[in-house]
Amino acid sequence: LWVVSIDLDRFKFTNSRVGHKAGDRLLQHVAERLQAAVRPIDTLARLGGDEFALMLLPEENAAKPSVEQLQRVLASLNRPLVLDEKETFIASSAGVAIYPDHGGDPTMLLERADIAMFRAKELGGDNYKFYTHAMREQLGERVQMESALRQALERHEFVLYYQPQVDIGSGRIVGMEALIRWQHPEMGMVAPGRFIPVAEETGMILQMGAWVLRSACQQLRTWQCEGRRHLRVAVNVSARQMAERDFVGSVADVLTEAGLSPDCLELELTESLVMNDVEHAIAVMHQLKKLGVKLAIDDFGTGYSSLAHLKRFTVDVLKIDQAFVRDLTVDPDDAAIVTTIIALAANLNLEVISEGVETLDQLSFLREHGCYQMQGYYFSRPVPATVFGAVLDE
Ligand code: C2E
Ligand code: CA
Ligand code: CA
Ligand code: CA
Repeated sequence: LWVVSIDLDRFKFTNSRVGHKAGDRLLQHVAERLQAAVRPIDTLARLGGDEFALMLLPEENAAKPSVEQLQRVLASLNRPLVLDEKETFIASSAGVAIYPDHGGDPTMLLERADIAMFRAKELGGDNYKFYTHAMREQLGERVQMESALRQALERHEFVLYYQPQVDIGSGRIVGMEALIRWQHPEMGMVAPGRFIPVAEETGMILQMGAWVLRSACQQLRTWQCEGRRHLRVAVNVSARQMAERDFVGSVADVLTEAGLSPDCLELELTESLVMNDVEHAIAVMHQLKKLGVKLAIDDFGTGYSSLAHLKRFTVDVLKIDQAFVRDLTVDPDDAAIVTTIIALAANLNLEVISEGVETLDQLSFLREHGCYQMQGYYFSRPVPATVFGAVLDE
């Protein structure tokens, strides 16, 4: 017997957007979907809010429940839900505790299924994990991380690194992506992959994102004043920021404050961020466009936006994800995906940039296929502002 804890990803945030009534109806749909996906002998319980518990029994002639069984249940949530004639995408995280390996009573099993579910969430969500004892320790670390993160802004422990974006046509640095780094007094340098998900979930990403935006714009202004007028800066935007009531207004304020022309700022939005609430995202993209900032779709090709959607996004740049660039020269599938994205960008009159360029072979392939803007270790790792300034002088 398996006890499965299921929790919707970012539901609080969906709820704040669609309103509580619509949120409740959405949960009702979710419950119905799950109910329809399990067999009568599997017990499904709504634990309140957006949390569900499931007891999964083995299928006939099987000794244990199977991963396929679990996947079938979870997949029932993967189709978009239609709410007030709008498509809403639901993602969920699930954790599994196995009887009797992980516990002998329901309380302990559910507790451990929850721990596994949190782990799945931490790893980005939209996934499931089986409980392991190591997860319990990690959970402790996570609580520590959360409180440390709360103090980090006040203590000025964040720094921005900059990674050049190069136009290999002219051979010039045309811009840079600002990437956050956390220099913790004891933990040392903490990678964004470890703290951004925590910041997202706790909402701290809002303060953090505002700091990143302001710092990056001020830094760019400094470089521009030193004579590098052509440079632009790319800043990553999180879903929560996009959903904020006056995100566009705050971007406008930051630009004014820094004395920066809007077209020097590029905001990187991921596909999944946009697909979270397509209509809202499109509306915000239109406003940002009107303001004059540039928009890029980050990690392009990894999400599930359709071409029909892409046509309605007012973006300027497609950024090819490094996952496709990595094996570009050895994996024909990746090569095909990359050349397709480059062609797509050309047909839609969009700029295209590749991230994660590490080798001359990758560079040559990209150039041959018409992608001239690149970013990656081949040119430079992300570096502190002082080092970046020196690179610019070379
Ligand atoms: P991303 O936006 O896809 O950023 C690119 C990541 O790839 C960066 O990792 C960068 O250091 C790394 N990278 C660059 N060139 C290469 C290369 O040639 N090879 C390889 N293997 N990697 C390369 P980083 O800095 O660890 O950031 C990870 C992710 O954290 C970012 O992925 C982004 O999603 C998020 N992030 C970073 N800074 C911010 C921020 O200020 N705000 C938000 N919301 N997210 C951020
Ligand atoms: Ca929840
Ligand atoms: Ca990025
Ligand atoms: Ca990426």
